[in-house]
Amino acid sequence: MAQTTAHAGPAGPALTALQVSAALRHEGLRATIPRLDVYRALAVSGGHRSADDLAGMLAADGGTVQRTSVYNALRALVDAGLVQVVQAGPGTTLYELRGSDHHHFLCRDCGTITDVPAGSEVPPLLDMNIPGARVDSAQVVLRGLCADCLEPH
Ligand SMILES: [Zn+2]
Ligand SMILES: [Zn+2]
Repeated sequence: MAQTTAHAGPAGPALTALQVSAALRHEGLRATIPRLDVYRALAVSGGHRSADDLAGMLAADGGTVQRTSVYNALRALVDAGLVQVVQAGPGTTLYELRGSDHHHFLCRDCGTITDVPAGSEVPPLLDMNIPGARVDSAQVVLRGLCADCLEPH
């Protein structure tokens, strides 16, 4: 895969291969080529991608990463806290770079997923008092109709 500058999206700036390797090793995971390739594909493409999307991107780039390797790589990257699963309900599992906490708005008509900054006003959905627990992150899925779908055709 060509070295491409990754965009700093809502998920935050991408890490370098060295930083990704260090984060994997910190979790006792090996920094294998597929893991680094999958992270870079996700960083370069940005947004929310399925394992199939990523396998397709790597194949288009002349890579030879098997789909099962992509799944295994994603699991390791999630374990290392580098990638997170997008909680968007049943269906294809989507992944994105772990960065600043944000929520997702899911259009129930066209299926578009939009990042919503964590500071946005949302109805008080959660009573954050969970006795004895430590909350590390929160992801709220907001559902409705996007601007395009709301517009009369
Ligand atoms: Zn829509
Ligand atoms: Zn997102």
